[in-house]
Amino acid sequence: MTEHGTAEPARSRAGVTRRGLLWWGAAAAALALAAADDTDAVLAGGFGSRGGPALAQHNTSAAARLKEEASPLRRSRSGAAAGATLRRRAHQPAQSAFSAPVFSLSDYVKRTPGTPAFPHNAVLLTIDDGPHPVWTPKILRLLHQYDAPATFFIIGRQATQYPALVRAAVSEGHHIANHSFSHPPGLPSLPRAAMTAELLDTQDAIVRAGGFTPRQFRAPGGRWSPQMMRLTAAHDLLAVDWTIDPRDWSRPGSQHIVESMLAADPGDVLLCHDGGGDRSETYDALKIVLPQLKARGLQFVTLPAPQPAKR
Ligand SMILES: [Zn+2]
Repeated sequence: MTEHGTAEPARSRAGVTRRGLLWWGAAAAALALAAADDTDAVLAGGFGSRGGPALAQHNTSAAARLKEEASPLRRSRSGAAAGATLRRRAHQPAQSAFSAPVFSLSDYVKRTPGTPAFPHNAVLLTIDDGPHPVWTPKILRLLHQYDAPATFFIIGRQATQYPALVRAAVSEGHHIANHSFSHPPGLPSLPRAAMTAELLDTQDAIVRAGGFTPRQFRAPGGRWSPQMMRLTAAHDLLAVDWTIDPRDWSRPGSQHIVESMLAADPGDVLLCHDGGGDRSETYDALKIVLPQLKARGLQFVTLPAPQPAKR
């Protein structure tokens, strides 16, 4: 299975890939173009979440306006015109059918009113592409050993194949979220019906295996599109991305994975994988990363407990 090979790093800091920190205008322009053309711009790492406004959708005039605003040429040509554009936008009713995915714990709290604040030293460990019959049990044992709760973004088809592993993760206090049914790299460009099936079949698989309805979704490879964002919101799923990606799926060596993950700051969302291939490097890295981050005073948290499934 291919994994996040198409996701481009948003920003590099000392060799560490961090997401969600790009100037949001590039993403806004791409989204506005997609809205105007009624096509799907696929954005991998193109969203900036911090302070980025929700974008109007299903509204070509709003889309055209955003496109205009996102163009430095337009802005520099006429200050008065730019001001008028901004005023019109300010008067536009808020339409947040989609917005940027969550990149950090502070994003998560902002986007989910009523969520209690996470501890000041919290980090969120997310583990994607399982459950896997070899690597998920090993990683579960490691998480148990270091008393480190995690959030598993699981693939629906594998949850159907290995439901006991989903139940094991839940019983150990971990959180489960939706990572599509078959992990198609081209999910953002699929027809709406196929995209919907990828979301909902996974919801069903998790309900059957884990006994609750997931409330978060992560796009395969972190590749988002406006249509996917709308669909995610329409099904009451919060789009969750990540802050730090050690690119462990590419097997860069456990030392690289360790160094990337040890760059975590409080509030970061860490990405790694228990599925999609040989995860021995990830496993070896976690043996070092889990105790070292805890020794630094960071606290592993999960997303809030899921609601019981509506059957
Ligand atoms: Zn994945």
